[in-house]
Amino acid sequence: MIEIQTVGVLGAGTMGAGIVQIAAEAGLNVLVHDPVEGATERARERIGGFLQRKVEKGELDANDAADAMARISPVASLEALAVADLVVEAIPEDLDLKRDAFRRLDTTAADGTILATNTSSLAVATIAAAARRPGRVVGMHFFNPVPLMALVEVIAGPMTDPEVTDTVALLARRLGKTPVVAADTPGFIVNRVARPYYLEAFRIIGDGAAGIEAVDDAMRGIGFKMGPFELIDAIGADINFAVSESVFAQFFGDPRYRPHPLQRTLVSAGRLGRKTHGGCYDYRADGARGAPWTGLSRRIAGPQPARLDAAQIEARILATIVNEAASAVADGVASPDGIDTAMRLGTNWPEGPLAWGERIGLASVVHTLDALHAAVPDGRYRVTPLMRGVADAGGSFFPAQG
Ligand code: NAD
Repeated sequence: MIEIQTVGVLGAGTMGAGIVQIAAEAGLNVLVHDPVEGATERARERIGGFLQRKVEKGELDANDAADAMARISPVASLEALAVADLVVEAIPEDLDLKRDAFRRLDTTAADGTILATNTSSLAVATIAAAARRPGRVVGMHFFNPVPLMALVEVIAGPMTDPEVTDTVALLARRLGKTPVVAADTPGFIVNRVARPYYLEAFRIIGDGAAGIEAVDDAMRGIGFKMGPFELIDAIGADINFAVSESVFAQFFGDPRYRPHPLQRTLVSAGRLGRKTHGGCYDYRADGARGAPWTGLSRRIAGPQPARLDAAQIEARILATIVNEAASAVADGVASPDGIDTAMRLGTNWPEGPLAWGERIGLASVVHTLDALHAAVPDGRYRVTPLMRGVADAGGSFFPAQG
């Protein structure tokens, strides 16, 4: 196992600053580089403010905060990061930029240095292929805000050395996080398994089968902190749409991931959510939620579609989530346990989707999906064969231990 004492962070934006902070708090020496004038200084100020608030709340000793700040050293070039035992890249989500950074890091870093990318949507393999030693390149996918979110997806690319994956998982624990190892596949775990939470919600309102508030109320009613439309307004409809498009493209147009036209409607209209004071809902000046945006409501002339009640909305959305989690297991993305842990910690879902599916009954989940597939047989609702097998056998994704 490689001993990590010094961490380098490339990019001092939202994610980079968070990574610098938790590494310094965990007692590691941190080198940070950002080519944009003043960026590392601004990051240091933000971190200082964050630690100060922790001191005021009694969560951190003032001396420990000062020591953490003293462990952070801005450096003037990317090459100066090469002395670190591990470098985490957190620069913009642009493949050319990232490949260039990894090529340069690989050329300058000592043989043992691990190179990690915080990419959310690019294949780790494509970034690693820019390095002469791709075995040392791994994904280390943190969640925003880094100091508060417990999950790190550790992405083992097809060329990543197993020892590198293990070292990074161990480091994530040292940073106070829960690592879940995932294969290098589109959306990894969280951005893939969360897709149907939004997509199925859009399909329901797009079919005129329920309104926005009814969908949000139904999902909050079973323990989600936010309904899908409230959540989109919090994340940003542009980001939600971009992730949807990226995952759809990476799965070569699989209908299960096809974005919904209403996602584009929101973006085209500039209704990006809270940040534009209007998205799926209107927002008042004080931030309070107003009425649902009428631009998303379908007015159907002629025969009316059947309306769904809360239980039917929940059943539809949950069934598609459980199916996606099962499909991630079937694709070897991660273990059932890993997938459930990642969804609870990465999205704050009240329960892991596979455990939830088993509580409802996998047979019932399969039944819901088969009925949806019978009505819309384009493949979007096809049951993951692995799940049908488990359901038919009355089995479990979590065989009893021992
Ligand atoms: P950001 O725009 O806040 O920060 C990027 C930083 O990189 C900026 O400070 C910028 O000055 C710097 N930078 C630009 N070009 C650079 C270069 N060539 N070399 C070094 N630094 C450079 O972006 P972010 O939100 O922190 O995202 C960074 C990465 O993390 C992206 O890959 C993103 O997909 C991923 N990510 C973001 C989130 C999120 O919620 N923001 C969550 C998980 C992963």
